[in-house]
Amino acid sequence: MAGLYLHIPFCRQACHYCDFHFSTSLAKIGPMVQAMKSEIEQRAPEWEGERFETLYFGGGTPSLIAPELLVELIDTAKSFLQFESELEVTLECNPEDIDEASLKAWRSMGINRLSIGVQAFEDHALSLMNRVHNATRAKHVLQLATTFFERISVDLIYGIPGRSDAQLMNDLATILDLGITHVSAYALTVEPQTALERFIAKGIIDPIDEEQAARQFNLIMDSLEDAGFVHYELSNYALPGHESRNNSAYWMRKPYLGIGPGAHSFRENERRWNVSNNPSYIRALKDGTSFFETETLSKRDHYNEYVMTALRTHWGVSLDYLTTAFGRAFKDYFTMISTPFILDNLLFEDEGVILATRKGKFLIDGIASELFMLELQSPKEEN
Ligand code: SF4
Repeated sequence: MAGLYLHIPFCRQACHYCDFHFSTSLAKIGPMVQAMKSEIEQRAPEWEGERFETLYFGGGTPSLIAPELLVELIDTAKSFLQFESELEVTLECNPEDIDEASLKAWRSMGINRLSIGVQAFEDHALSLMNRVHNATRAKHVLQLATTFFERISVDLIYGIPGRSDAQLMNDLATILDLGITHVSAYALTVEPQTALERFIAKGIIDPIDEEQAARQFNLIMDSLEDAGFVHYELSNYALPGHESRNNSAYWMRKPYLGIGPGAHSFRENERRWNVSNNPSYIRALKDGTSFFETETLSKRDHYNEYVMTALRTHWGVSLDYLTTAFGRAFKDYFTMISTPFILDNLLFEDEGVILATRKGKFLIDGIASELFMLELQSPKEEN
């Protein structure tokens, strides 16, 4: 089983914290969709025999393109790739693009899951991040969306400078009152060369407070778990049965085909990524020239990626899987190097599976990187 990711690289305006690949020059949407259709057709033969169980429109802001163009992409994918009948089709969308007409159009083209970029239900926080929508609109369209879609995920950002815990709790209460079944919660991070980095450097926005972020991470975890949500990945919570199949497949290291500029693909030992430049991507697809790079993953790379992704999930790192997939030497290495973290109560073992403790969760990316195997440490059997 595999996943299909379609990257729509356009946004109405740049959020201050964002370092994703997107452009605000919307005039190129039509040529971009044509180029993406060509890429699907061009790459379909390599994926012959693979069955796709998820289709995910990510971005950027996929909801800003006309429904007819989304239909063209879905139809092209379905005519060149093989899909399961129970297909999860997710659209990332922003509140400013949601109304009754768009919801009806998305529903009728087979989209059955929305991931809505709300981030906060309060105007000051939204304008600090340079989001297009306001809080009133976010609440209104979320309510409307629940009348068309059963499966809705809301994105939230915590650790926003100056935002109190009480304000964050109000956001969570709004989400729960609306009957939302999936939440993705991310700490605000300062990426290099973003407006947020410049504003903090100039003193226009307060720096990120790590203690506030850690406290709010715990608040979200407690509130959502009390409401019956499963914390199935570090940033993701779902009511049972409402987990994202697309994201779960990614964490389980299933293959995925990424279409569009900046999109990544992964299959067996190969990772491939497309050029992160809209004009270059469109030109290359038109001229038949190269538009991607690839790397071959070693066993050590696979091990490192498995440890990084699995430790973030509630499935954890399976010692049996380490032995089967990588060999005894990798499992022994992991056991040895993870022991100090178990003694520090940051990790724990449960029937042969290593998981993050509550204390370890917020620190898990740093912990996982300590468990990586470096080139010099690779056992001889690699590759
Ligand atoms: S809408 Fe999303 S992709 Fe676009 S700038 Fe904002 S955070 Fe980035």
